Amino acid sequence: MSSKNYNDIDKNSLLLGGGMGRGLLFPGSFDPFTKGHADLVERGLQLFDSIVIAVGYNENKEGWIPVEERVRALKALYANEPRVTVESYTGLTIDFAKQCGAVAILRGIRSVKDYEYEMQLADMNKQLSGIETLLLFANPQYSSVSSSIVRELAHFGKDIKPFLPEGLHYSSKK
Ligand code: ADP
Repeated sequence: MSSKNYNDIDKNSLLLGGGMGRGLLFPGSFDPFTKGHADLVERGLQLFDSIVIAVGYNENKEGWIPVEERVRALKALYANEPRVTVESYTGLTIDFAKQCGAVAILRGIRSVKDYEYEMQLADMNKQLSGIETLLLFANPQYSSVSSSIVRELAHFGKDIKPFLPEGLHYSSKK
């Protein structure tokens, strides 16, 4: 498979280049963003200089919270953390990671099920672009927290606040 080595690309013109040091791209649907996601951001920042939270969307699938609202709420949450930027993207994560100048992709693993999926994804991304994936195990206190369970709870009228980071507020949900 022919691919340009990721290290060959010019990082200076990119979002994380020049001034932001070595940055990670943290891609996901974040529909909604949970305490588990926030924990990964915090731990990623202990290892790298900056993180772009990349809210992925599919033009044919609206999602639970509109993508603009997911981005707005996360920008507000991290307004006082200059090392975190929030962007939306569609298309291949590796292409967006290159555009941002990220040195690696950050993802999380809660279970064996996550492991199998994340391993395939990381392997494919590495083969296609040379970009590495940094996988962090879920903090045990958040290992059962998932966006899909949170959506399910909301659907049945339960309070989802305990699962969202403090200070994160969405103004529109389905
Ligand atoms: P996607 O739709 O791309 O799987 P998600 O928004 O569900 O995106 O999750 C983004 C990343 O965060 C994934 O790598 C997922 O495994 C990880 N993740 C989700 N919830 C948790 C959690 N509670 N603890 C640690 N990692 C998590």
